[in-house]
Amino acid sequence: MLTAIAAMACTVKPTQLEDECLYGKNKTMFTFWSPVAEQMELRIYDSAETEDFETYALKKDDNNFWHTSVKGDLFGKYYTVRSYQTGEWSEESPGIFAKAVSVNGARAAVVDMSKTNPDGWADDKRPAMNDSTDIVVYETHLRDFTMSPNSGIDHKGKFLALTETGTKTADGLASGIDHLKELGITHVQILPMFDYGSIDETTLSKGNYNWGYDPINYNVPEGGYSTDPYDPTARIKEVKQMVQALHAAGIRVVMDVVYNHTYNVAGCALGRVVPQYFYRLNSDGSYANGSGCGNETASDHEMMRRFMVESVCYWAREYHIDGFRFDLMGIHDQETMRQIRAALDKIDPTILTYGEGWAAMAPAYPEEDLAMKRWTWKMPRVGAFSDDIRNALIGSPFDHERGFASGNSAGKNAVCFGLVGGIDYSDGKFGDGWSGEPMQHVSYITCHDNYCLRDRIDVSAAGESEDTKLRMNKLAQTGVLVSQGMTFIYGGEELYRTKLGIDNSYQSPDSINTIPWENKLKYNDLYEYYRQMIRIRRQHKGFRLGSAELVRRHVEFLPSQSEALIIYHIKDLEGIDSAKSLVVLLNGSAETMEADIPAGDYTILAQDGKANAEGLGHISSPSIKVAPYSATILAQ
Ligand code: CA
Repeated sequence: MLTAIAAMACTVKPTQLEDECLYGKNKTMFTFWSPVAEQMELRIYDSAETEDFETYALKKDDNNFWHTSVKGDLFGKYYTVRSYQTGEWSEESPGIFAKAVSVNGARAAVVDMSKTNPDGWADDKRPAMNDSTDIVVYETHLRDFTMSPNSGIDHKGKFLALTETGTKTADGLASGIDHLKELGITHVQILPMFDYGSIDETTLSKGNYNWGYDPINYNVPEGGYSTDPYDPTARIKEVKQMVQALHAAGIRVVMDVVYNHTYNVAGCALGRVVPQYFYRLNSDGSYANGSGCGNETASDHEMMRRFMVESVCYWAREYHIDGFRFDLMGIHDQETMRQIRAALDKIDPTILTYGEGWAAMAPAYPEEDLAMKRWTWKMPRVGAFSDDIRNALIGSPFDHERGFASGNSAGKNAVCFGLVGGIDYSDGKFGDGWSGEPMQHVSYITCHDNYCLRDRIDVSAAGESEDTKLRMNKLAQTGVLVSQGMTFIYGGEELYRTKLGIDNSYQSPDSINTIPWENKLKYNDLYEYYRQMIRIRRQHKGFRLGSAELVRRHVEFLPSQSEALIIYHIKDLEGIDSAKSLVVLLNGSAETMEADIPAGDYTILAQDGKANAEGLGHISSPSIKVAPYSATILAQ
């Protein structure tokens, strides 16, 4: 009998935070969570603007969920919720899990999600992916990618920009999606595209720019990227069209998620309906501020954790999102990240999870339980950005020093640490391993934060010729693209973008942030180098062995005559790669270096600033010259 009751209990789906508004043609059900409210009420509005509303009292169940249902077809209507506690009514809010909203996200909208699907959506498939180390992520912002008059893209700054095919730069070269295909990246990571607060959606014609790290409604697309922010359905459909078009091009989509803080507390649903619960507080009752943005959320609180788990799963199911990049992941606790991983695995284990394993300031939570970089190994299949390889290759963002690729060999060991994917390697010879597997180490040198690569090299290697700076640029990116970790490049580096020395362009105008499509022709040599390096990576499994054990078995570093020369040897690859072995020589100095390589005849894949996956020629051991600030890559 007891067993039968237990089995029955399991068939009842627990109330989910995401069930706030369940639309039906004849009635719509509403459910909101609050453990502290003494009363809650729902307001239904006929339009986004009207001040008139109908009020419905909500009834609390044993689990602190408040319910009501409203008869009739509510499609096209708007709603808000407010709660009464400690003697006063809260401000109205669209709820914490609105899925559609009015312009600027003030009211939630009742939509029929089945009407938001583009044609063919049921057949949309995630492109094939074998292993996380196979991927090359390309980070971009919808405006950066499209706003240039030379982009050839019609829907500038909109989700639909990434649905256009056949687009060309002013010089007739592929742009847009076709460019991404040609470049050979596997994933596009889009800067925040959930509804954020820093752009007024009613004045879009002003062309204001913001990165968007200020969440308002976590589960609704940003209206500023929609062709009609006043139509709650349009932005939902347009994100799906974008995902569908990228998938059709063989490219997966990663979403940048910012659960670590909200735009503000008083104006945000998380703060309004259940005051304080979703945030960490200091001992004096003030809001903790690990984000540096005025507050930090409390993933260690049960319902904040559930909120995050349900939110990523919602985007993965409803929008077919293929990966999540967690902003300031170090603010979240490890257990939440493990639960997110487990929940996504049930949808599709190839969905990526990685983030920034740090915080802006110390969070109000025990460090040893936070998802900080050094604890990455405790969160299997969750990755963290490697500031180790970044700082080693190009220098730290906190100073203007050079890195290995620009002539400072102090970073040699840390480059090697990055090449092996941040694992425990050779008794910690290159540093304490923090990744359990190489896929947990996101190899990168630049992203939206700090200088872009051209500007970084300009400030740290001022006085060098442009030819030398271009060599340093290629060498630095080569270090990323031959790493055993997961690889990541900042969109526009392949077009030699500059932000004119601005190292925090979060609200700079398009003229600073847009990528220069005209450079595809002007700096075609650089573009072609990036493209070929990505091809070389994707053709050679030796650069992405995929497990720590294989990296320890097949990777060695050969003795070199100089601290400025790394000789990275990936050996015994029979049955793994088309090559028997790969040799990568990275010369971070202004001198030509000479090195001995293992016996054999080799195809040259890269040399002296040129790269070609089919080969540039042949060479035999024992001795080889490596040109200044350049990589030589050989396949045997
Ligand atoms: Ca917005």
